Amino acid sequence: MDEFIMLSALQHYAFCPRQCALIHVEQVWTENAQTARGQQQHERAHGGGTEERGGVRTMRALPLVSRVHGLMGVADVVELLPDGSPRPVEYKSGRAKPRLADEVQLCAQAMCLEEMFSTDVPAGFIYHSASHKRREVAFTPELRRAVLDARDGVRELLRTRVLPPPAADARCELCSLKDECEPFAPRDFPRGFDPFSTRLDE
Ligand code: SF4
Repeated sequence: MDEFIMLSALQHYAFCPRQCALIHVEQVWTENAQTARGQQQHERAHGGGTEERGGVRTMRALPLVSRVHGLMGVADVVELLPDGSPRPVEYKSGRAKPRLADEVQLCAQAMCLEEMFSTDVPAGFIYHSASHKRREVAFTPELRRAVLDARDGVRELLRTRVLPPPAADARCELCSLKDECEPFAPRDFPRGFDPFSTRLDE
């Protein structure tokens, strides 16, 4: 049986396969202001427990699994509507990421919930703390396909353990691993090697 893939790895892969490999293969992680803020929010959201308001039951830090799709992780928040159907809500500290990375992670949560609750989950929400607003994300066939493509991509990374080439584009400005990744370094030299620091007489 294929190994289960973490939902967070899907988000990293959909954002940048190299970021995913740095975190999940090379175990590199750094914290910048944004990831620290995001971590605090996740800890608040992951405080666990349930509460009910207006007929909607809110469950925090709900473990998720899909045996069909080989996915597992933890949802920040899942709201149970009065009819008993679940809606995932993912908390994000920064701006919306390019390449639908957050949407892929949220849709993967929904695919787990569909299996766990034996129901359809057509949409969920991403809550942006900067604006204190949440936006609805529809789980289209294309987004569901993107989840499975990301899952297969992560599996391949874990199997081959090969670091993909850098994106070297606008994503790198948003990336907490920019210093470790060195996306714009000359690729003819090994990572971390600085030819200008080498003296010829040594
Ligand atoms: S710095 Fe750029 S290439 Fe490197 S992991 Fe981040 S997004 Fe990917």
